[in-house]
Amino acid sequence: MDRSDILSSLKENPNVSVLVIGGGINGIGTFRDLALNGVDVLLVEQADFCSGASSASSHMAHGGIRYLENGEFRLVREAVQERNRLIQNAPHLVKPLPTVIPIFKRMSGLLNAPAKFFKLLDKPSERGSLVIRIGLMMYDAYTGAQDGRRVVPEHSFLSRKKSLEKWRPLNPDIINTAVYYDGVILQPERLAVEALLDAEAENPRARALNYVSMIGGSEDTLLLRDEMTDTTYDVRPRLVINAAGPWIDFTNRKLGFSSGFIGGTKGSHLVIHHDELRQTIGDHEFFFENEDGRIVLILPLYDRVLIGTSDIPVDNPDEARCTDDEIEYFLGMVRRVFPGIQLTRDNIVYQYSGVRPLPRSNAKRAGQISRDHSIEVLSGDWTNLRFPVFSLVGGKWTSFRAFSEQVTDKALAYLDLSRKKDTKSLPIGGGRGYPSEPEELRRQIESLSAWTGVSGERLNTLFQRYGTRAEAIATFMNGGTDQIPRTLPDYSRREINFLIQREKILHLDDFLLRRSILGMQGRVTREMLDELALLFANALGWNREQIRAEVTRTLSILADRHGVRL
Ligand SMILES: Cc1cc2nc3c(=O)[nH]c(=O)nc-3n(C[C@H](O)[C@H](O)[C@H](O)COP(=O)(O)OP(=O)(O)OC[C@H]3O[C@@H](n4cnc5c(N)ncnc54)[C@H](O)[C@@H]3O)c2cc1C
Repeated sequence: MDRSDILSSLKENPNVSVLVIGGGINGIGTFRDLALNGVDVLLVEQADFCSGASSASSHMAHGGIRYLENGEFRLVREAVQERNRLIQNAPHLVKPLPTVIPIFKRMSGLLNAPAKFFKLLDKPSERGSLVIRIGLMMYDAYTGAQDGRRVVPEHSFLSRKKSLEKWRPLNPDIINTAVYYDGVILQPERLAVEALLDAEAENPRARALNYVSMIGGSEDTLLLRDEMTDTTYDVRPRLVINAAGPWIDFTNRKLGFSSGFIGGTKGSHLVIHHDELRQTIGDHEFFFENEDGRIVLILPLYDRVLIGTSDIPVDNPDEARCTDDEIEYFLGMVRRVFPGIQLTRDNIVYQYSGVRPLPRSNAKRAGQISRDHSIEVLSGDWTNLRFPVFSLVGGKWTSFRAFSEQVTDKALAYLDLSRKKDTKSLPIGGGRGYPSEPEELRRQIESLSAWTGVSGERLNTLFQRYGTRAEAIATFMNGGTDQIPRTLPDYSRREINFLIQREKILHLDDFLLRRSILGMQGRVTREMLDELALLFANALGWNREQIRAEVTRTLSILADRHGVRL
């Protein structure tokens, strides 16, 4: 069903078993699992899918090695398993990531770690070599537990000499380095949308709408507003899942509950264009703690470098922006690890901030707040609502599948249904049938090229972007006259048209910031906006005024939220 079909079906029949509010990864994960189990479910997202906390992550599929220190063993075990599943189920977008910890001290943290574990110490500090060694052994032990097979290699230690040979600009003050493996989610926003489209394809009674907000309600009816037209719609759910991330308490307030589940912390990132830094790190992430125990990461992302992140308590998620202080802090941290590399503000091509939907906590330090997830149930006894509301508090991108499974089990029990299928080894989007060997990929590309007439080089790019969805896109490209956009030579018009038609794109920025990585790579230009706006106008029927409004909207989002002024 397209958007207008979904909206008219809602007008005709407002009854639905489950309403999911929020199209971040936790809402989408739950939507997918419910759809798979045959439930009629409606998901509404007030902006674009995956535009809240889920678009602000550090791109890591990780177990969270440092949570071991807080004693969160269950969380680490679950997240490591989920990291492995993501690498297996979405191999086109989630890849193993060798991660280097530069170590500056031998013994630090040895006494702190047990003290922290027993909650006797709040003071953060940089970890020494021995503590890191123990942590990595535990981390590897969890990784080894996956069906008796290792998805990523075990950790190793490199001497100072070897480390400085391998990464020449590394700070000579290091004692040694540790190398262990996690995963990188190259394009979280695409992965989320692919999971959502899978759900709709699986079950015609699973419907998802972006740019539709839940604005209030009472008794058995909630009110939705289509943000594109300002039209309102009634919906009558049997169960509501509040997956509004850092906006969970705001959303509960609209439902008449005054909850205080969330104590969000802001995290910011910079995207850097610096060839020397990019070549120096190669395919390795550098992950380390500064002297006060805060985590910093320098991560390879295509031809750019991602640097993050901060952890600062905030009240209003809408106001989260990357500040000058954060920028100075990040640049200073890179200088500490690679003192010889000259990095300035001119190398920043994009920046972003988001709020982690962490549980409200009395912890003295943001880093100590649990990253675990929970389901908080509110029932109609508190208001005049006739259905329960499950609020999805906390969680990590990495473990969204496990969290969604727990929510779905609870929802199925409430609806008196039983689970028919699970998502443990269910591929996501273009990860379905993705070749495991380069030779197999080469063969697939060759036969697809012969069949569609699209060149092997273009197909290679399409496979990197979309995994095996490349096949449907290449077939579509072959179905009419295609052209290369002047300002975007590695795309084609029909490729973009495919995304507009099939991936619920409604605004120009949906494509630039979430269905592609063009914004994050800092590739958007004024000329590109003008050219794409015309292409979108043809596909979506925009008039001149709408074209102007879309360009203005994108310029303002880029400047306000991402520090990009065109
Ligand atoms: C800085 C940062 C770094 C992180 N790094 C990592 C990492 O490297 N690895 C990892 O595993 N995790 C990471 N995380 C955690 C992870 O990104 C989040 O836990 C996860 O994305 C939360 O997803 P969510 O769906 O709960 O929330 P969100 O993605 O915020 O989704 C909630 C959605 O609800 C919508 N909404 C709100 N109110 C309404 C309403 N009334 N009607 C309709 N829609 C509404 C919002 O627009 C939003 O899109 C990071 C998070 C941050 C902020």
